[in-house]
Amino acid sequence: MDYIKSKIRDVVDFPSKGIVFKDLTTVFKDPRALHIIGWDLSQLYRDKGITKVVGIESRGFIGGSILAYEIGAGFVPARKPGKLPADTIRMEYAKEYGTDVIEIHRDAITPDDIVVIHDDVLATGGTMAAVYKLIESLHPKKIYVNFIIELSALNGRKALPADAEVTSLISY
Ligand code: AMP
Repeated sequence: MDYIKSKIRDVVDFPSKGIVFKDLTTVFKDPRALHIIGWDLSQLYRDKGITKVVGIESRGFIGGSILAYEIGAGFVPARKPGKLPADTIRMEYAKEYGTDVIEIHRDAITPDDIVVIHDDVLATGGTMAAVYKLIESLHPKKIYVNFIIELSALNGRKALPADAEVTSLISY
């Protein structure tokens, strides 16, 4: 994990003043770090009968796809509005300024699925909470939640249901 940590780039004042952005492009471009991420994520979920990994646009697509491939699950994208071509369900959620919307295909998850929702970074948790509600509305057998990085000072877990099973590889 120290190796991955050493590859994370902190970008100060991005995208706005006062934010320290955890840039994972420097992790993903490093072959050894990418391999470790895939291995560590898959070890967390290998024995849980996962059938679908939901990745949140867009950085969640990277780790989510690798995790799905490693554990033999399918991959489902949760996307910004208007991007998915077929019948979708959507959830609006509060951002720092205004609101945002996230969508998935209505037929992406079925009641026999066991799901992991993955994103790169847990900050306030608003995005993950919205996707969690969307997935919940499709009644899968179980939902797990995973991040590569958790910014614990922002208390993002509080935004998620108390009984949500949340893991993160790295906590700051
Ligand atoms: P959240 O506040 O948890 O809803 O985060 C919104 C989105 O922005 C998530 O997809 C996070 O990955 C990303 N994000 C928020 N804060 C940071 C940060 N400090 N560094 C990197 N990504 C961030």
